[in-house]
Amino acid sequence: MKIRLAAPIQVNSVVDGEGIRAIIWTQGCLHNCKGCHNQTTHDLKGGELVEIEKLKEEIMKLSIEDGITFSGGEPFLQAKACSILAKFIKEQDLNIWCYTGFIFEDIIKDKDKLKFLKYIDVLVDGPFILSKKSLNLTFRGSSNQRIIDVQRSLHENKTITISKYDVIINEKIYQKDATIFI
Ligand code: SF4
Repeated sequence: MKIRLAAPIQVNSVVDGEGIRAIIWTQGCLHNCKGCHNQTTHDLKGGELVEIEKLKEEIMKLSIEDGITFSGGEPFLQAKACSILAKFIKEQDLNIWCYTGFIFEDIIKDKDKLKFLKYIDVLVDGPFILSKKSLNLTFRGSSNQRIIDVQRSLHENKTITISKYDVIINEKIYQKDATIFI
């Protein structure tokens, strides 16, 4: 099976999730967020098709990374391929973060997306909203986006954000009370 990527696996990232991470840049996105910084990743036929087995070999060579982040593009548009990779990543004892323009509550309604979600530790969800952009936020671009503890959320059947990433802007706590516009 192949996955469409926007770029080769990036190593040694410290800005796309906690710790030192490798990034899988998926190609293809339909959210069309105004102000998106990754517009070259939108074309569903862009980037390059890569064999998943080849990526597994690259992942096995990682040495200092704590985990892997799926970004893009929209990883959940390739949920089946991402599931296969994510299963392998967990078998290597690496944690998984994933950025998505979808929201958690919609992802769990879709069988293939849910299957991928079940391998993820931390989900940064929701579209980037330019009017809610803030440089004070940790690991996300706009204040509507939430940093979600996926395993606890699935277990307790409600969306649970990770409070250590909460940020107070103008006396308002963001992400605990994040407002989602889609
Ligand atoms: S979801 Fe991400 S990649 Fe897609 S348009 Fe929005 S910011 Fe850009």
